[in-house]
Amino acid sequence: MNQEETLTAVLSSDELPTLPIVASKIITLTAREDTTLSDIANLVSTDTALSVKILKVANSAFYSFAQQISSINQAVSILGINAVRSLVLSFSFLSLRAGKKKVQFDFEQFWKNSLAGAVASKLILERVKGADTEEIFICGLLQNLGELILARTFPEEYDKIIAKVNEHQHDALNVQEDTFGTTHPTIGYEVAKKWGFPEVLLLPILYHHDPLSYKGDNEKIAVTCKASYLSDLLISILYSNKPQEFHKRFRKEAKDLLGLNNTDLDHILNAVHKQVDQAGEYFGMRIKNTKSIQEILQEANIRLSLINLDFDQMNQELIKTKVELENLTRELKTKNKLLGDLANIDGLTEIYNHRYFQNSLDKEISRAIRSETEISLLLIDIDFFKKFNDTYGHQAGDFILKEFSKVLKQEIRKYDTLARYGGEEFTVILPDTSSTEALIVAEKLRAVIDAYIFEDSQIDYHVTASFGVSTARPVTDDNFSKSNFISESDAALYKAKEDGRNRIALYSEKKKWYKF
Ligand code: GH3
Ligand code: MG
Ligand code: MG
Repeated sequence: MNQEETLTAVLSSDELPTLPIVASKIITLTAREDTTLSDIANLVSTDTALSVKILKVANSAFYSFAQQISSINQAVSILGINAVRSLVLSFSFLSLRAGKKKVQFDFEQFWKNSLAGAVASKLILERVKGADTEEIFICGLLQNLGELILARTFPEEYDKIIAKVNEHQHDALNVQEDTFGTTHPTIGYEVAKKWGFPEVLLLPILYHHDPLSYKGDNEKIAVTCKASYLSDLLISILYSNKPQEFHKRFRKEAKDLLGLNNTDLDHILNAVHKQVDQAGEYFGMRIKNTKSIQEILQEANIRLSLINLDFDQMNQELIKTKVELENLTRELKTKNKLLGDLANIDGLTEIYNHRYFQNSLDKEISRAIRSETEISLLLIDIDFFKKFNDTYGHQAGDFILKEFSKVLKQEIRKYDTLARYGGEEFTVILPDTSSTEALIVAEKLRAVIDAYIFEDSQIDYHVTASFGVSTARPVTDDNFSKSNFISESDAALYKAKEDGRNRIALYSEKKKWYKF
């Protein structure tokens, strides 16, 4: 087929859509010089459903006007005649679907892509200083109209074209040229011309694949053609299988054609996916969760890095990634837990604080009552710590407290609770532990501390601590109370200090304490 045959067939076809009445009237009206704002408002108001839709968009973030627009009259005077015409046409076209002939062409998808294209062109042109953005949306929306017309008029041929482009990665324009002797920009242009579209809307359809071919002197048309062209590249980042390639081209060509800088480009690339979803909502198309360009490019990079690997290498890579992911998840879990525990953690030593100790002791006592078991408590106090601070300074003291906590923590069992009782005093709750066992634990801790070298920037410190131990069987002990239980370990600790420090004392009811 040559171009003339194709055009004749298209323009005389039963499949050529007729425009809704309001749409075609608004085109005629706006083409006349003497049309007033209220003529337009009156026309749009005749279609209530359409008016409602237009007001909804006019009041959305899409235009972000500060004031509420409550009537079509107001919409026309605030948005402008051309913007209202754009909206009327947008709503008319978005409902255009298949004709009588059966086609594989996916009309729904076509309009989703076109809507994304419209959003993209608007986003791009808004970054061009002084550009008139009233009509860019409809230009972006209709730039590929010719494709839909071809698909309706020549369904079989068009299906073959789609298959060829998809399977062999052929350039769509070349394949259209081979089959029809012309391409979709020309078809779209001729059809829209027949509908009476004005030049500002027509020429961007014709030149959207080759904006520099427009040689006219209307700057608005020139810029609109360029923005439509760039929107195609931007949308291809979102929907094609070569996002990186289109990303690179988009950045370069947007700089060359419209003089956009990196800040403009980053703004556009970051915003487009959200705005596409939003437009879907305003125009009643089901578009959701469009991936961000950053995410798309990341995924494409990963895919690309896997392509060049053989099967074994790929497996290795995947295993490595899986392990890394698992490690990250584990780390995250620990960090989250730590964050949750923050109110219960002592800032200096990073072990539990006094508050947590009190709550924890309550719980362990209840548990000991339920299970009728014994429970033991250690109260630990560092020996001569004041002198240590005075001699080496407070910072060295802090270091000792941290290191001391770390050593104790390593030595206790998982179900024992170590906490900072206050100052240089610590405590360990030992659930289900008799006095004999508690003494063994205490002696182990005492010996470990006694033997440990606290090494801080070339100075080796030696530290000892005294231990008070108390044991109870809360279910049978007369007069058992938590505060008595703590006081008993405190009394034992006092005895250990009195007897010379670096030692352990056990509280016993009869002797008030028992030296170990
Ligand atoms: P004793 O053997 O009788 O326990 O003597 P001591 O010097 O360890 O006991 P004392 O209660 O007299 O002094 C405790 C010291 O612990 C006093 C205080 O300055 C110090 N201290 C308490 N909290 C901290 C802290 O967070 N950092 C530092 N560096 N020192 C602390
Ligand atoms: Mg003390
Ligand atoms: Mg002390």
